Amino acid sequence: MAVKEVLLLVNPFLREEAEEVEEFSEKLEKIITDLRDTLVHLQEKHNIGRALAAPQIGYSQRVIYYNQGGEELVLVNPRIIENSSEKFSIWDSCFSFNVAFFVRVSRHRKIKVKFKDEKGKDKILEFEDDLAELFQHEIDHLEGILATDYLEDQKDIIMRKEWEKIK
Ligand SMILES: [Zn+2]
Repeated sequence: MAVKEVLLLVNPFLREEAEEVEEFSEKLEKIITDLRDTLVHLQEKHNIGRALAAPQIGYSQRVIYYNQGGEELVLVNPRIIENSSEKFSIWDSCFSFNVAFFVRVSRHRKIKVKFKDEKGKDKILEFEDDLAELFQHEIDHLEGILATDYLEDQKDIIMRKEWEKIK
């Protein structure tokens, strides 16, 4: 078990573009195990959150790990290949903000993502609504983009305690 430290805003590592995974080897397995252990720990600690991207725990690799109620999904080298013109607005937070505040972002309502699973097999999945938002957020991490980058208006940021009242 390896619960890793989550890098926080404004750690410069979070701003780097992550590297493509080229080998589906033990190194990838370790990254996935660390993502799983860290996410489960964070979910217990903060009572929120569904996914983590490898750069958040210090690996410059294009890997995303999702776990919601035991249902898990690993996305390696994900690419958004289609997105809906329709967008929607949603409050978004991040473990790299310690889930202390939320920012209002505009995201595509639907996305189609091409990726490889943990064994290197090609997959395509479509996501809608909150899952579409989630994976846009996680894929942004692989490009060094954070939700706060979308802030245009001071009204679009809210502390978690206030967000709990309006969610
Ligand atoms: Zn995040």
